[in-house]
Amino acid sequence: MDEVRNLIIIGSGPSGYTAALYAARANLKPLVIEGVQSGGALMTTTEVENFPGHPDGIMGPELMDNMRKQAEKFGAEFITDDATRVELGDKPTAAGAEGLKTVWVGEKQYFARAVILSTGSAWRPLGVPGEQELLGHGVSSCATCDGFFFRNQHIIVVGGGDSAMEEATFLTRFAETVTIVHRRDSFRASKVMALRASSNPKIKVEWNSVVEEILGDDGKVAGARLRNVQTGETKVLDVTGVFVAIGHDPRSELFKGQVEMDDEGYVKVDAPSTRTNIPGVFAAGDLVDHTYRQAITAAGTGCAAALDAERFIASFV
Ligand code: FAD
Repeated sequence: MDEVRNLIIIGSGPSGYTAALYAARANLKPLVIEGVQSGGALMTTTEVENFPGHPDGIMGPELMDNMRKQAEKFGAEFITDDATRVELGDKPTAAGAEGLKTVWVGEKQYFARAVILSTGSAWRPLGVPGEQELLGHGVSSCATCDGFFFRNQHIIVVGGGDSAMEEATFLTRFAETVTIVHRRDSFRASKVMALRASSNPKIKVEWNSVVEEILGDDGKVAGARLRNVQTGETKVLDVTGVFVAIGHDPRSELFKGQVEMDDEGYVKVDAPSTRTNIPGVFAAGDLVDHTYRQAITAAGTGCAAALDAERFIASFV
């Protein structure tokens, strides 16, 4: 059998790289299977102004590159490919020994005593023209991250659930006006959240409407074309920001049927620890987190997962 590693980390966002840093410094020589799109969600953004230690802000890809280098410096190893299959169970696995975990990258198998799952979550895009091109240049999926950049501007929030209400309300601290664009004639959000948003004087609502196209000028958002789904009428709103708040999907498909998840597919952990229901399997970052979804919180739970894994491995040998 191939070498049995102490720890495999699946995913390479702030949670995966932070777990790798801590595990490497604890001499565990972690193997990070970082995914084809390594570096995680911050690779798709421009300036990050709220990661502590960077008073002038830092570009997302640079921050992630620094995290990777820091983990590598202490001995973390990386495979820049997707994990394609896992056997996390407590039962005998392909590794042929009680309790070992097996992770496949294509045909190749890797064995470990412990695994950290940190594959993040994906925000649901609208899928309209202009959205991907203008991402990070007026299109955002995170009010907490980007609200500050929209002082005194006119912006829209797309969605009708609790997150959309929360984001719209939060954004009124900065924006001149916030227009919620919602495809139906009532919100799905809880009454209290919906009432808080709709009674805010800075918030307007475009009911029964969808964004058909996000318009750019000079590489930045300059408007959004809306279509009323009942009348078919279209109109352009002069906005400089579009916040997409129609939900997130945890990237947990690979682990289905193996670790316990909630109804929405987020991996359940025994908080405040990062332990899943399977001994030796830990989970961190946005794969677990419905609520905060920030680089620093993902990094924080990545750290906790490495410490939890370290203790588990110590009891193994
Ligand atoms: P992610 O960063 O999502 O990383 C998960 C990683 O797992 C990815 O690299 C993925 O390729 C990999 N992966 C998935 N499947 C597999 C597989 N099968 N095998 C191997 N690897 C796999 N937060 C802030 O604090 N400040 C900001 O300014 C900010 N701006 C943002 C801007 C944008 C556009 C977005 C989308 C998010 C932003 N966030 C910001 C949120 C922040 O990026 C996330 O909260 C954070 O990246 C979550 O970290 P994570 O490690 O849990 O997952």
